[in-house]
Amino acid sequence: MTEETLDDRAVVSAQLGREARGMIDVAWRCPCGRPGVALTAPRLSDGTPFPTTFYLTCPNAVAACSRLEASHLMTDMTARLREDMALASAYAGAHEAYLAARARLGEVSEIAGVSAGGMPDRVKCLHALVGHALAAGPGVNPLGDEALALIGRFWEPDCAPRLTSGGRRSHRRPGRKETP
Ligand SMILES: [Zn+2]
Repeated sequence: MTEETLDDRAVVSAQLGREARGMIDVAWRCPCGRPGVALTAPRLSDGTPFPTTFYLTCPNAVAACSRLEASHLMTDMTARLREDMALASAYAGAHEAYLAARARLGEVSEIAGVSAGGMPDRVKCLHALVGHALAAGPGVNPLGDEALALIGRFWEPDCAPRLTSGGRRSHRRPGRKETP
């Protein structure tokens, strides 16, 4: 592992407020210079299958996605997938691209055919779609691209103030079972 990767891991851990698990590389770097999307192993070191290969870490982008998720956007997008066959086809293509990218990192049978964010026929997590859109570039994930366009230039003025003031909050790990 290179020194740069170690530094990036430390930044991602600070962004998430917890240890960056399964991080292989930076899939997309924010214009602020920090990692914005972590390329994540399909199986974590403790054996857990991990479907979100392109994990959005930039705190500004994460917050912007959460704001969009609080609107009706995901419901509207899912409805459009029922009506717009061109969109549905492009979104299914994004699902296939996601699986192909993950397959290059290794096959994990438990999540075979499972991508992220609700693909291929629903929209369940904009963080996952935006993470994919950033990592893959424009034209791969149509609804990720749309969400990104709505979010705009999330790295301005700078992600750093949010990282230092809000990134170190302690909070529960997503999905972690709290034992009494
Ligand atoms: Zn940033």
